[in-house]
Amino acid sequence: MSEAKHTPGIKIPEVEVCTIADIGFEITGSDAPLLIAAINKYLSVFAKPVRRNGGAEFVVGSHECLKCGKPLSGLLGTFQWGLVNGEGSCSECGWPARAYHEPADDEGKIFDRILEIVLQYHPDNVTATNKGAPA
Ligand SMILES: [Zn+2]
Repeated sequence: MSEAKHTPGIKIPEVEVCTIADIGFEITGSDAPLLIAAINKYLSVFAKPVRRNGGAEFVVGSHECLKCGKPLSGLLGTFQWGLVNGEGSCSECGWPARAYHEPADDEGKIFDRILEIVLQYHPDNVTATNKGAPA
């Protein structure tokens, strides 16, 4: 996770845990319940993405930062890559996020390619030392 510094007094809003429905996936078939459970287990460390209302998605993005409310994705998005592959943070407030995802079940990786979607870590999985200011 990110090494951003903690800013005392910043209140993080209550957010739900991310699920497969939040990232626009639908899986059908006889093994769907097991796959969905494995994906939801993987996603449970992330926060449900905060959707933006209106606006051109390409420019200002379809989601916003759960902490500072700035556009996280899109051409003007604040997501910045970190030193660890697939990891990054909001360049405005430092909240940690991951953009590359490889959910796996007991038999290995579920998808044949890396999923690319910026998901911010759920507050329960962000320590007090990295809930705050830009690094
Ligand atoms: Zn932010």
